[in-house]
Amino acid sequence: MEQATEVYPNVYKTPSSDIFPDYAKFQGTDQDKFDMIYATLDTLIEIMDRNKVYEKSAEWDEEGVKLVNGKVVFPNGYEKVIDEIIKENQLGTLVLPESLGGLELTTVQFAPVIELVARYDASMGMTAMSGLGIMNILKQFYKPEFEDILQGFAVGENTGYAAFTEAQAGSNLRNIKSTSVLDGDDYVLNGTKIFITNGGYANYGIFLANNIVDGKKEGTNVFLVGDYEGITAVRLEHKSGIRTSPTAELLFEDVRVPKEHLIGEVGTGYEKVIERLLGMRVSVSFQALGNCKRAYELAESYSNTREQFGKPIGSFPAIQRKLKQMRLQLSRMEEWAYAGAFALDWVTERTDVMGVQEANTKREKLAHSIKEILKHEDLIHYYVSGGKLYNGEISNYFMYDAQQIFGGNGFISETEINKITRDVRILPVFDGTSEIHAWVVNRSLKYLDTIPEFVKVSSIWEGNTIYEDHVISRFPSLRDKL
Ligand SMILES: Cc1cc2nc3c(=O)[nH]c(=O)nc-3n(C[C@H](O)[C@H](O)[C@H](O)COP(=O)(O)OP(=O)(O)OC[C@H]3O[C@@H](n4cnc5c(N)ncnc54)[C@H](O)[C@@H]3O)c2cc1C
Repeated sequence: MEQATEVYPNVYKTPSSDIFPDYAKFQGTDQDKFDMIYATLDTLIEIMDRNKVYEKSAEWDEEGVKLVNGKVVFPNGYEKVIDEIIKENQLGTLVLPESLGGLELTTVQFAPVIELVARYDASMGMTAMSGLGIMNILKQFYKPEFEDILQGFAVGENTGYAAFTEAQAGSNLRNIKSTSVLDGDDYVLNGTKIFITNGGYANYGIFLANNIVDGKKEGTNVFLVGDYEGITAVRLEHKSGIRTSPTAELLFEDVRVPKEHLIGEVGTGYEKVIERLLGMRVSVSFQALGNCKRAYELAESYSNTREQFGKPIGSFPAIQRKLKQMRLQLSRMEEWAYAGAFALDWVTERTDVMGVQEANTKREKLAHSIKEILKHEDLIHYYVSGGKLYNGEISNYFMYDAQQIFGGNGFISETEINKITRDVRILPVFDGTSEIHAWVVNRSLKYLDTIPEFVKVSSIWEGNTIYEDHVISRFPSLRDKL
Protein backbone atom coordinates (compact mmCIF):
# COMPACT_ATOMS: atom_id res chain seq x y z
CA MET A 1 0.00 0.00 0.00
CA GLU A 2 1.19 3.50 -0.79
CA GLN A 3 1.76 5.79 2.19
CA ALA A 4 0.50 9.35 2.16
CA THR A 5 4.08 10.56 2.47
CA GLU A 6 4.90 8.81 -0.83
CA VAL A 7 1.84 10.09 -2.64
CA TYR A 8 2.21 13.59 -1.23
CA PRO A 9 5.91 14.06 -0.47
CA ASN A 10 5.63 17.84 -0.79
CA VAL A 11 2.14 18.30 0.40
CA TYR A 12 3.00 21.02 2.88
CA LYS A 13 5.67 22.61 0.80
CA THR A 14 4.11 23.68 -2.43
CA PRO A 15 6.15 25.91 -4.75
CA SER A 16 4.29 28.91 -3.43
CA SER A 17 5.04 28.35 0.24
CA ASP A 18 8.23 30.41 0.32
CA ILE A 19 6.61 33.41 -1.22
CA PHE A 20 3.06 33.77 0.07
CA PRO A 21 2.99 36.01 3.11
CA ASP A 22 1.56 34.11 6.06
CA TYR A 23 1.55 30.89 4.08
CA ALA A 24 3.42 29.00 6.76
CA LYS A 25 0.80 30.04 9.27
CA PHE A 26 -1.95 28.36 7.31
CA GLN A 27 0.19 25.30 6.81
CA GLY A 28 0.47 25.29 10.57
CA THR A 29 3.27 24.34 12.88
CA ASP A 30 1.28 22.11 15.19
CA GLN A 31 2.89 18.67 14.96
CA ASP A 32 -0.24 16.96 16.25
CA LYS A 33 -2.23 18.40 13.36
CA PHE A 34 0.39 17.35 10.84
CA ASP A 35 0.39 13.84 12.23
CA MET A 36 -3.40 13.78 12.15
CA ILE A 37 -3.55 14.92 8.52
CA TYR A 38 -1.02 12.33 7.38
CA ALA A 39 -2.79 9.66 9.42
CA THR A 40 -6.06 10.63 7.71
CA LEU A 41 -4.47 10.46 4.27
CA ASP A 42 -3.00 7.04 5.10
CA THR A 43 -6.38 5.81 6.34
CA LEU A 44 -8.10 7.07 3.19
CA ILE A 45 -5.53 5.36 0.98
CA GLU A 46 -6.07 2.14 2.95
CA ILE A 47 -9.88 2.40 2.58
CA MET A 48 -9.68 3.13 -1.15
CA ASP A 49 -7.14 0.40 -1.89
CA ARG A 50 -8.89 -2.23 0.23
CA ASN A 51 -12.16 -1.46 -1.57
CA LYS A 52 -10.35 -1.51 -4.94
CA VAL A 53 -11.69 1.90 -5.93
CA TYR A 54 -9.26 2.33 -8.87
CA GLU A 55 -10.23 -1.06 -10.25
CA LYS A 56 -13.97 -0.59 -9.76
CA SER A 57 -14.50 3.08 -10.53
CA ALA A 58 -14.96 2.61 -14.29
CA GLU A 59 -17.37 -0.28 -13.68
CA TRP A 60 -19.37 1.82 -11.18
CA ASP A 61 -19.34 4.66 -13.68
CA GLU A 62 -20.77 2.40 -16.38
CA GLU A 63 -23.60 1.37 -14.04
CA GLY A 64 -24.32 4.91 -12.80
CA VAL A 65 -26.86 5.95 -10.16
CA LYS A 66 -30.61 5.34 -10.08
CA LEU A 67 -33.54 6.99 -8.36
CA VAL A 68 -35.84 4.54 -6.56
CA ASN A 69 -38.82 5.98 -4.65
CA GLY A 70 -37.20 9.39 -4.57
CA LYS A 71 -33.92 8.08 -3.12
CA VAL A 72 -30.59 7.65 -4.86
CA VAL A 73 -29.32 4.10 -5.26
CA PHE A 74 -25.58 3.85 -5.89
CA PRO A 75 -23.85 0.91 -7.61
CA ASN A 76 -23.14 -2.04 -5.36
CA GLY A 77 -20.24 -1.37 -2.96
CA TYR A 78 -19.95 2.37 -3.68
CA GLU A 79 -21.89 3.70 -0.69
CA LYS A 80 -19.99 1.42 1.69
CA VAL A 81 -16.78 3.23 0.76
CA ILE A 82 -18.44 6.62 1.26
CA ASP A 83 -19.63 5.54 4.70
CA GLU A 84 -16.16 4.37 5.64
CA ILE A 85 -14.71 7.71 4.56
CA ILE A 86 -17.18 10.02 6.23
CA LYS A 87 -18.65 8.00 9.12
CA GLU A 88 -15.96 5.61 10.37
CA ASN A 89 -13.28 8.17 9.64
CA GLN A 90 -15.43 11.12 10.84
CA LEU A 91 -13.91 13.27 8.13
CA GLY A 92 -15.91 16.37 9.01
CA THR A 93 -14.25 16.68 12.43
CA LEU A 94 -11.14 17.83 10.59
CA VAL A 95 -12.86 21.05 9.57
CA LEU A 96 -15.22 21.47 12.53
CA PRO A 97 -14.29 24.55 14.62
CA GLU A 98 -12.09 23.85 17.63
CA SER A 99 -14.69 25.49 19.87
CA LEU A 100 -17.09 22.71 18.84
CA GLY A 101 -14.53 19.98 19.45
CA GLY A 102 -13.10 19.76 15.92
CA LEU A 103 -9.62 20.14 14.51
CA GLU A 104 -10.48 23.26 12.48
CA LEU A 105 -7.95 22.66 9.73
CA THR A 106 -7.34 25.50 7.33
CA THR A 107 -8.25 25.04 3.67
CA VAL A 108 -4.56 24.70 2.86
CA GLN A 109 -4.24 21.91 5.42
CA PHE A 110 -7.39 20.06 4.36
CA ALA A 111 -6.88 20.40 0.59
CA PRO A 112 -4.79 17.22 0.14
CA VAL A 113 -7.76 15.21 1.42
CA ILE A 114 -9.99 16.60 -1.34
CA GLU A 115 -7.30 15.95 -3.92
CA LEU A 116 -6.67 12.41 -2.70
CA VAL A 117 -10.28 11.25 -2.87
CA ALA A 118 -10.75 12.89 -6.29
CA ARG A 119 -7.62 11.13 -7.46
CA TYR A 120 -9.29 7.78 -6.80
CA ASP A 121 -12.65 8.81 -8.26
CA ALA A 122 -14.12 12.24 -9.03
CA SER A 123 -17.70 11.22 -8.23
CA MET A 124 -16.68 9.63 -4.96
CA GLY A 125 -14.97 12.85 -3.95
CA MET A 126 -18.11 14.82 -4.74
CA THR A 127 -20.29 12.46 -2.71
CA ALA A 128 -17.90 12.12 0.23
CA MET A 129 -17.23 15.87 0.48
CA SER A 130 -20.91 16.77 0.09
CA GLY A 131 -21.26 18.10 3.62
CA LEU A 132 -18.13 20.20 3.73
CA GLY A 133 -19.40 23.09 1.62
CA ILE A 134 -22.42 23.42 3.89
CA MET A 135 -20.27 23.15 7.01
CA ASN A 136 -18.22 26.02 5.68
CA ILE A 137 -21.30 28.21 5.23
CA LEU A 138 -22.76 27.25 8.62
CA LYS A 139 -19.44 28.14 10.25
CA GLN A 140 -19.35 31.52 8.56
CA PHE A 141 -22.95 32.33 9.47
CA TYR A 142 -22.97 30.49 12.75
CA LYS A 143 -25.98 30.41 15.09
CA PRO A 144 -26.41 28.13 18.11
CA GLU A 145 -29.25 26.38 16.21
CA PHE A 146 -26.65 25.06 13.77
CA GLU A 147 -24.45 23.37 16.37
CA ASP A 148 -26.10 19.92 16.41
CA ILE A 149 -26.37 19.93 12.64
CA LEU A 150 -22.68 20.81 12.30
CA GLN A 151 -21.82 17.99 14.71
CA GLY A 152 -23.90 15.65 12.52
CA PHE A 153 -21.89 16.69 9.46
CA ALA A 154 -18.67 16.18 11.40
CA VAL A 155 -19.41 12.51 12.09
CA GLY A 156 -20.87 11.83 8.65
CA GLU A 157 -24.48 11.46 9.82
CA ASN A 158 -25.43 14.49 7.74
CA THR A 159 -24.70 14.98 4.07
CA GLY A 160 -25.39 18.03 1.92
CA TYR A 161 -26.50 19.58 -1.35
CA ALA A 162 -26.67 23.15 -2.63
CA ALA A 163 -29.86 24.02 -4.54
CA PHE A 164 -29.45 27.22 -6.56
CA THR A 165 -29.80 26.49 -10.28
CA GLU A 166 -33.18 26.61 -12.03
CA ALA A 167 -34.12 25.94 -15.64
CA GLN A 168 -34.02 29.66 -16.58
CA ALA A 169 -31.36 30.66 -14.02
CA GLY A 170 -27.93 29.08 -14.47
CA SER A 171 -25.09 31.58 -14.69
CA ASN A 172 -27.52 34.33 -13.78
CA LEU A 173 -28.83 33.19 -10.41
CA ARG A 174 -30.55 36.52 -9.89
CA ASN A 175 -33.17 35.25 -12.30
CA ILE A 176 -34.47 32.50 -9.99
CA LYS A 177 -38.22 32.06 -9.55
CA SER A 178 -38.22 30.09 -6.27
CA THR A 179 -39.96 31.90 -3.45
CA SER A 180 -39.76 32.15 0.33
CA VAL A 181 -42.55 33.76 2.33
CA LEU A 182 -42.53 34.32 6.09
CA ASP A 183 -45.58 32.74 7.71
CA GLY A 184 -45.57 32.89 11.53
CA ASP A 185 -42.37 31.29 12.80
CA ASP A 186 -41.67 29.53 9.51
CA TYR A 187 -40.71 30.41 6.00
CA VAL A 188 -42.65 28.61 3.26
CA LEU A 189 -40.50 27.61 0.27
CA ASN A 190 -41.59 26.81 -3.28
CA GLY A 191 -39.64 26.19 -6.46
CA THR A 192 -37.99 23.70 -8.80
CA LYS A 193 -34.23 23.32 -8.79
CA ILE A 194 -32.30 21.45 -11.46
CA PHE A 195 -28.83 19.86 -11.70
CA ILE A 196 -28.50 19.46 -7.93
CA THR A 197 -25.48 17.39 -6.95
CA ASN A 198 -26.39 14.91 -4.20
CA GLY A 199 -30.11 15.75 -4.43
CA GLY A 200 -32.05 12.60 -3.46
CA TYR A 201 -29.06 11.41 -1.42
CA ALA A 202 -28.17 14.13 1.08
CA ASN A 203 -30.39 14.92 4.07
CA TYR A 204 -29.49 18.63 4.35
CA GLY A 205 -29.30 21.32 1.74
CA ILE A 206 -29.00 25.03 1.21
CA PHE A 207 -31.75 26.57 -0.87
CA LEU A 208 -31.76 29.95 -2.66
CA ALA A 209 -35.11 31.72 -3.09
CA ASN A 210 -36.55 35.17 -3.65
CA ASN A 211 -37.61 36.90 -0.45
CA ILE A 212 -41.29 37.74 -1.00
CA VAL A 213 -42.89 40.39 1.20
CA ASP A 214 -46.51 41.40 0.53
CA GLY A 215 -46.30 39.72 -2.86
CA LYS A 216 -43.18 41.69 -3.89
CA LYS A 217 -39.57 40.55 -4.31
CA GLU A 218 -37.24 42.03 -1.70
CA GLY A 219 -33.87 40.46 -2.37
CA THR A 220 -33.06 36.79 -1.91
CA ASN A 221 -32.76 34.40 1.02
CA VAL A 222 -30.68 31.31 1.63
CA PHE A 223 -32.01 28.59 3.93
CA LEU A 224 -30.69 25.49 5.54
CA VAL A 225 -33.26 22.78 4.80
CA GLY A 226 -33.48 19.32 6.33
CA ASP A 227 -35.31 16.21 5.19
CA TYR A 228 -38.58 18.15 5.26
CA GLU A 229 -41.98 17.27 3.91
CA GLY A 230 -42.53 18.78 0.47
CA ILE A 231 -39.01 18.20 -0.90
CA THR A 232 -38.99 15.59 -3.67
CA ALA A 233 -36.23 14.33 -5.92
CA VAL A 234 -38.14 14.05 -9.18
CA ARG A 235 -35.48 12.63 -11.48
CA LEU A 236 -31.75 12.11 -11.98
CA GLU A 237 -29.87 13.28 -15.06
CA HIS A 238 -28.07 10.82 -17.33
CA LYS A 239 -24.60 12.24 -17.73
CA SER A 240 -21.49 11.69 -19.82
CA GLY A 241 -19.16 12.02 -16.81
CA ILE A 242 -19.14 11.86 -12.98
CA ARG A 243 -21.85 9.25 -13.47
CA THR A 244 -21.88 7.98 -9.87
CA SER A 245 -22.42 11.51 -8.57
CA PRO A 246 -26.20 12.00 -8.49
CA THR A 247 -27.50 15.13 -10.27
CA ALA A 248 -31.16 15.64 -9.38
CA GLU A 249 -34.15 17.77 -10.14
CA LEU A 250 -35.60 18.80 -6.77
CA LEU A 251 -39.14 19.99 -6.27
CA PHE A 252 -39.93 22.20 -3.25
CA GLU A 253 -43.67 22.38 -2.57
CA ASP A 254 -44.85 24.42 0.41
CA VAL A 255 -41.83 23.37 2.43
CA ARG A 256 -41.98 24.85 5.94
CA VAL A 257 -38.62 25.84 7.39
CA PRO A 258 -38.13 27.34 10.87
CA LYS A 259 -37.15 30.98 10.45
CA GLU A 260 -33.96 30.33 12.44
CA HIS A 261 -32.76 28.34 9.44
CA LEU A 262 -32.38 31.49 7.40
CA ILE A 263 -28.65 31.82 6.72
CA GLY A 264 -27.31 35.36 6.97
CA GLU A 265 -29.59 38.36 6.96
CA VAL A 266 -32.99 38.55 5.32
CA GLY A 267 -32.94 39.69 1.69
CA THR A 268 -29.15 39.38 1.28
CA GLY A 269 -28.81 35.71 0.31
CA TYR A 270 -27.26 36.12 -3.11
CA GLU A 271 -24.80 38.89 -2.26
CA LYS A 272 -23.76 37.78 1.20
CA VAL A 273 -24.11 34.01 1.27
CA ILE A 274 -23.79 32.65 -2.26
CA GLU A 275 -20.80 34.89 -2.90
CA ARG A 276 -19.08 33.23 0.04
CA LEU A 277 -19.30 29.71 -1.31
CA LEU A 278 -15.71 30.03 -2.32
CA GLY A 279 -14.61 26.83 -0.63
CA MET A 280 -16.57 24.85 -3.22
CA ARG A 281 -14.66 26.53 -6.05
CA VAL A 282 -11.35 25.80 -4.38
CA SER A 283 -12.50 22.17 -4.06
CA VAL A 284 -13.07 22.07 -7.82
CA SER A 285 -9.47 23.21 -8.36
CA PHE A 286 -8.23 20.36 -6.16
CA GLN A 287 -10.61 17.90 -7.82
CA ALA A 288 -9.03 18.82 -11.17
CA LEU A 289 -5.59 18.30 -9.69
CA GLY A 290 -6.46 14.89 -8.22
CA ASN A 291 -8.09 13.71 -11.47
CA CYS A 292 -5.09 14.79 -13.54
CA LYS A 293 -2.48 13.34 -11.18
CA ARG A 294 -4.13 9.94 -11.52
CA ALA A 295 -4.31 10.34 -15.30
CA TYR A 296 -0.61 11.20 -15.41
CA GLU A 297 0.22 8.09 -13.41
CA LEU A 298 -1.80 5.95 -15.85
CA ALA A 299 -0.40 7.65 -18.96
CA GLU A 300 3.22 7.42 -17.83
CA SER A 301 2.85 3.78 -16.89
CA TYR A 302 1.15 2.97 -20.23
CA SER A 303 3.90 4.76 -22.14
CA ASN A 304 6.46 2.49 -20.46
CA THR A 305 4.62 -0.77 -21.11
CA ARG A 306 2.88 -0.31 -24.47
CA GLU A 307 5.27 -1.21 -27.28
CA GLN A 308 5.08 -0.28 -30.95
CA PHE A 309 7.81 -0.58 -33.58
CA GLY A 310 9.68 -2.77 -31.07
CA LYS A 311 9.97 -0.02 -28.44
CA PRO A 312 7.93 1.38 -25.56
CA ILE A 313 5.87 4.28 -26.94
CA GLY A 314 7.39 6.42 -24.15
CA SER A 315 10.67 6.35 -26.07
CA PHE A 316 9.15 8.41 -28.92
CA PRO A 317 9.78 12.18 -28.65
CA ALA A 318 6.13 12.98 -29.43
CA ILE A 319 4.99 11.04 -26.35
CA GLN A 320 7.81 12.42 -24.20
CA ARG A 321 6.82 15.96 -25.15
CA LYS A 322 3.24 15.30 -24.11
CA LEU A 323 4.29 13.88 -20.75
CA LYS A 324 6.64 16.81 -20.17
CA GLN A 325 3.90 19.30 -20.97
CA MET A 326 1.53 17.43 -18.65
CA ARG A 327 4.05 17.59 -15.77
CA LEU A 328 4.33 21.34 -16.27
CA GLN A 329 0.56 21.72 -16.32
CA LEU A 330 0.29 19.67 -13.14
CA SER A 331 2.69 21.92 -11.29
CA ARG A 332 0.83 25.03 -12.44
CA MET A 333 -2.51 23.52 -11.51
CA GLU A 334 -1.08 22.78 -8.09
CA GLU A 335 0.06 26.38 -7.69
CA TRP A 336 -3.32 27.75 -8.69
CA ALA A 337 -5.17 25.35 -6.41
CA TYR A 338 -3.01 26.26 -3.41
CA ALA A 339 -3.18 29.95 -4.28
CA GLY A 340 -6.99 29.71 -4.04
CA ALA A 341 -6.81 27.77 -0.78
CA PHE A 342 -4.33 30.21 0.66
CA ALA A 343 -6.36 33.25 -0.38
CA LEU A 344 -9.47 31.72 1.16
CA ASP A 345 -7.74 31.16 4.50
CA TRP A 346 -6.07 34.54 4.43
CA VAL A 347 -9.26 36.44 3.74
CA THR A 348 -11.48 34.28 5.93
CA GLU A 349 -9.29 35.15 8.86
CA ARG A 350 -9.85 38.85 8.16
CA THR A 351 -13.51 38.78 7.20
CA ASP A 352 -15.02 35.92 9.14
CA VAL A 353 -17.34 38.27 11.00
CA MET A 354 -19.86 35.60 11.87
CA GLY A 355 -17.21 33.11 12.95
CA VAL A 356 -17.67 31.09 16.07
CA GLN A 357 -14.89 32.86 17.91
CA GLU A 358 -14.35 36.53 18.56
CA ALA A 359 -17.42 37.42 16.56
CA ASN A 360 -18.02 40.74 18.23
CA THR A 361 -14.49 42.04 18.04
CA LYS A 362 -14.32 41.14 14.39
CA ARG A 363 -17.63 42.80 13.66
CA GLU A 364 -16.29 46.01 15.17
CA LYS A 365 -13.14 45.72 13.14
CA LEU A 366 -15.20 45.18 10.02
CA ALA A 367 -17.12 48.37 10.60
CA HIS A 368 -13.84 50.29 10.64
CA SER A 369 -12.24 48.66 7.69
CA ILE A 370 -14.91 47.98 5.15
CA LYS A 371 -12.74 49.30 2.34
CA GLU A 372 -9.90 47.00 3.30
CA ILE A 373 -12.29 44.09 3.37
CA LEU A 374 -13.53 44.91 -0.11
CA LYS A 375 -9.97 44.83 -1.36
CA HIS A 376 -9.42 41.52 0.34
CA GLU A 377 -12.59 40.16 -1.20
CA ASP A 378 -11.13 41.08 -4.56
CA LEU A 379 -7.91 39.33 -3.75
CA ILE A 380 -9.74 36.16 -2.87
CA HIS A 381 -11.87 36.27 -6.02
CA TYR A 382 -8.79 36.74 -8.15
CA TYR A 383 -7.15 33.59 -6.85
CA VAL A 384 -10.22 31.44 -6.29
CA SER A 385 -11.82 32.25 -9.66
CA GLY A 386 -8.45 32.32 -11.43
CA GLY A 387 -7.69 28.85 -10.06
CA LYS A 388 -11.12 27.45 -10.89
CA LEU A 389 -10.80 28.84 -14.42
CA TYR A 390 -7.24 27.64 -14.97
CA ASN A 391 -7.64 24.17 -13.49
CA GLY A 392 -11.05 23.60 -15.08
CA GLU A 393 -9.77 24.52 -18.53
CA ILE A 394 -6.31 23.01 -18.36
CA SER A 395 -7.53 19.69 -16.95
CA ASN A 396 -9.43 19.21 -20.22
CA TYR A 397 -6.43 19.97 -22.45
CA PHE A 398 -4.39 17.76 -20.16
CA MET A 399 -6.83 14.88 -20.54
CA TYR A 400 -6.88 15.24 -24.32
CA ASP A 401 -3.15 14.42 -24.32
CA ALA A 402 -3.46 11.74 -21.64
CA GLN A 403 -6.18 10.01 -23.65
CA GLN A 404 -4.15 10.34 -26.86
CA ILE A 405 -1.27 8.44 -25.26
CA PHE A 406 -3.65 5.48 -24.87
CA GLY A 407 -4.44 5.41 -28.59
CA GLY A 408 -7.58 3.37 -29.35
CA ASN A 409 -7.80 2.11 -25.78
CA GLY A 410 -8.39 5.67 -24.60
CA PHE A 411 -11.58 5.78 -26.64
CA ILE A 412 -13.08 2.72 -24.95
CA SER A 413 -15.56 3.95 -22.39
CA GLU A 414 -14.91 1.38 -19.67
CA THR A 415 -11.21 2.27 -19.34
CA GLU A 416 -10.20 4.43 -16.38
CA ILE A 417 -8.47 6.98 -18.63
CA ASN A 418 -11.65 7.40 -20.66
CA LYS A 419 -13.67 7.85 -17.48
CA ILE A 420 -11.33 10.56 -16.19
CA THR A 421 -11.49 12.34 -19.57
CA ARG A 422 -15.27 12.41 -19.29
CA ASP A 423 -15.15 13.35 -15.59
CA VAL A 424 -13.07 16.50 -16.06
CA ARG A 425 -15.46 17.91 -18.67
CA ILE A 426 -17.76 19.21 -15.95
CA LEU A 427 -15.00 21.19 -14.23
CA PRO A 428 -15.22 24.30 -16.46
CA VAL A 429 -19.02 24.22 -16.17
CA PHE A 430 -20.30 23.81 -12.63
CA ASP A 431 -19.67 26.14 -9.69
CA GLY A 432 -19.66 28.94 -12.24
CA THR A 433 -18.59 28.45 -15.86
CA SER A 434 -15.13 29.48 -17.08
CA GLU A 435 -16.69 32.44 -18.88
CA ILE A 436 -18.20 33.69 -15.62
CA HIS A 437 -14.95 33.18 -13.70
CA ALA A 438 -13.01 35.03 -16.41
CA TRP A 439 -15.41 37.91 -15.85
CA VAL A 440 -14.92 37.72 -12.06
CA VAL A 441 -11.14 37.77 -12.47
CA ASN A 442 -11.39 40.88 -14.63
CA ARG A 443 -13.69 42.57 -12.15
CA SER A 444 -11.44 41.68 -9.23
CA LEU A 445 -8.48 43.47 -10.75
CA LYS A 446 -9.99 46.80 -9.78
CA TYR A 447 -8.33 46.99 -6.36
CA LEU A 448 -5.50 44.56 -6.67
CA ASP A 449 -2.71 46.97 -7.51
CA THR A 450 -3.39 48.90 -4.32
CA ILE A 451 -2.82 45.95 -2.02
CA PRO A 452 0.76 45.54 -0.90
CA GLU A 453 0.31 41.82 -0.32
CA PHE A 454 -0.73 41.34 -3.88
CA VAL A 455 2.68 42.43 -5.04
CA LYS A 456 4.25 39.70 -2.96
CA VAL A 457 1.70 37.08 -3.85
CA SER A 458 1.84 37.78 -7.55
CA SER A 459 5.57 37.22 -7.62
CA ILE A 460 4.96 33.49 -7.65
CA TRP A 461 4.02 33.88 -11.27
CA GLU A 462 7.03 35.96 -12.29
CA GLY A 463 8.68 34.57 -15.35
CA ASN A 464 5.88 32.10 -15.88
CA THR A 465 3.44 32.09 -18.73
CA ILE A 466 0.67 31.03 -16.48
CA TYR A 467 -2.04 30.64 -19.05
CA GLU A 468 -1.32 28.48 -22.02
CA ASP A 469 -2.01 30.07 -25.38
CA HIS A 470 -5.16 28.07 -25.99
CA VAL A 471 -6.74 29.43 -22.82
CA ILE A 472 -5.74 33.00 -23.59
CA SER A 473 -7.16 32.68 -27.07
CA ARG A 474 -10.47 31.65 -25.55
CA PHE A 475 -10.40 34.44 -22.97
CA PRO A 476 -8.54 37.29 -24.70
CA SER A 477 -9.64 39.82 -22.09
CA LEU A 478 -7.33 38.09 -19.61
CA ARG A 479 -4.17 38.56 -21.64
CA ASP A 480 -1.35 39.78 -19.34
CA LYS A 481 -3.66 39.78 -16.33
CA LEU A 482 -3.15 36.32 -14.92
C1 LIG B 1 -23.23 17.74 -13.28
C2 LIG B 1 -23.71 19.06 -12.79
C3 LIG B 1 -23.77 19.30 -11.43
C4 LIG B 1 -24.25 20.52 -10.96
N1 LIG B 1 -24.39 20.71 -9.61
C5 LIG B 1 -25.06 21.81 -9.17
C6 LIG B 1 -25.40 21.94 -7.78
O1 LIG B 1 -25.06 21.09 -6.96
N2 LIG B 1 -26.14 23.01 -7.41
C7 LIG B 1 -26.54 23.97 -8.29
O2 LIG B 1 -27.21 24.90 -7.87
N3 LIG B 1 -26.21 23.89 -9.60
C8 LIG B 1 -25.49 22.83 -10.05
N4 LIG B 1 -25.18 22.71 -11.39
C9 LIG B 1 -25.54 23.78 -12.30
C10 LIG B 1 -24.32 24.53 -12.82
O3 LIG B 1 -23.75 25.31 -11.80
C11 LIG B 1 -24.78 25.34 -14.04
O4 LIG B 1 -24.98 24.40 -15.08
C12 LIG B 1 -23.79 26.39 -14.45
O5 LIG B 1 -23.75 27.41 -13.48
C13 LIG B 1 -24.13 27.01 -15.80
O6 LIG B 1 -25.48 27.33 -15.91
P1 LIG B 1 -26.30 26.83 -17.19
O7 LIG B 1 -26.07 25.38 -17.35
O8 LIG B 1 -27.69 27.30 -17.07
O9 LIG B 1 -25.61 27.55 -18.42
P2 LIG B 1 -25.92 29.02 -18.96
O10 LIG B 1 -25.86 29.98 -17.84
O11 LIG B 1 -27.14 28.98 -19.79
O12 LIG B 1 -24.66 29.26 -19.89
C14 LIG B 1 -24.55 28.72 -21.20
C15 LIG B 1 -23.24 29.24 -21.80
O13 LIG B 1 -23.28 30.68 -21.88
C16 LIG B 1 -22.17 31.23 -21.19
N5 LIG B 1 -22.56 32.49 -20.56
C17 LIG B 1 -23.61 32.73 -19.75
N6 LIG B 1 -23.61 34.01 -19.34
C18 LIG B 1 -22.52 34.58 -19.90
C19 LIG B 1 -21.94 35.90 -19.86
N7 LIG B 1 -22.48 36.88 -19.15
N8 LIG B 1 -20.81 36.12 -20.56
C20 LIG B 1 -20.23 35.13 -21.28
N9 LIG B 1 -20.72 33.88 -21.36
C21 LIG B 1 -21.84 33.61 -20.68
C22 LIG B 1 -21.79 30.18 -20.16
O14 LIG B 1 -20.46 30.34 -19.72
C23 LIG B 1 -22.02 28.90 -20.94
O15 LIG B 1 -20.92 28.65 -21.75
C24 LIG B 1 -24.65 21.52 -11.88
C25 LIG B 1 -24.57 21.28 -13.25
C26 LIG B 1 -24.12 20.07 -13.71
C27 LIG B 1 -24.09 19.82 -15.18
